[in-house]
Amino acid sequence: MNIVLLGKPGAGKGMFAEFLQKHYGFTHISTGDLCRKNIRDNTIYGKIVEEHISKGQLVPLEIILDMLKSEIKKETSIGFILDGFPRNIIQAKELEKIVDVDAVLMIDVPDEIILERILNRRICPNCHKVYNLKDTNGKCLECGTVLVKRADDDLKIVKNRLQVYEKETKPLIEYFNKKIIVIDNSSQIDVAISKIKEIIDNLLKKTGENV
Ligand code: AMP
Repeated sequence: MNIVLLGKPGAGKGMFAEFLQKHYGFTHISTGDLCRKNIRDNTIYGKIVEEHISKGQLVPLEIILDMLKSEIKKETSIGFILDGFPRNIIQAKELEKIVDVDAVLMIDVPDEIILERILNRRICPNCHKVYNLKDTNGKCLECGTVLVKRADDDLKIVKNRLQVYEKETKPLIEYFNKKIIVIDNSSQIDVAISKIKEIIDNLLKKTGENV
């Protein structure tokens, strides 16, 4: 079973994807993480990816598809959780040529909360765990490394990313239509997690898949 996570930047897609990976064994593919890895590893794509990310723009389709396809080739026991892909209708059509999409979880959060969360988001440069600054003393709770801000979590870039979402990504809600399941993630995280768990359990029952 393959699931797409849709939502604005900072809506919590990565956190839900991590939960679904740990709890059910899905293979988590984050195209944002793949982009950042290409920058860190200074690959042939690194420079061009960095140019786009630093402006809050989408990375060119051929590059993203190449990264995605090599991840999709990997073995998966239960299926994929796609976090950050597709970002527009062209990408959705490309995705459907490669794998079936069984459900699309749309993580819904109002803009004011998004901005507060993104501007307080910090990551561990060592183990890549994500935190809200308010919940830490500035250091990673797992490895003690000093947390840093993601380069594109800057107010001006975030505003661009939100505009790209409205223009390019939001039309996917209509495109995926009956496959869309909306999850409200504006308040307590444990409420949203139990909703997601209930939804996935039901989908797995329907498809007869065992975890
Ligand atoms: P994310 O970590 O999902 O917020 O993505 C961070 C940045 O990576 C985005 O603002 C884009 O520049 C780039 N990116 C991630 N996924 C895609 C995608 N599917 N298509 C194009 N660019 C992407």
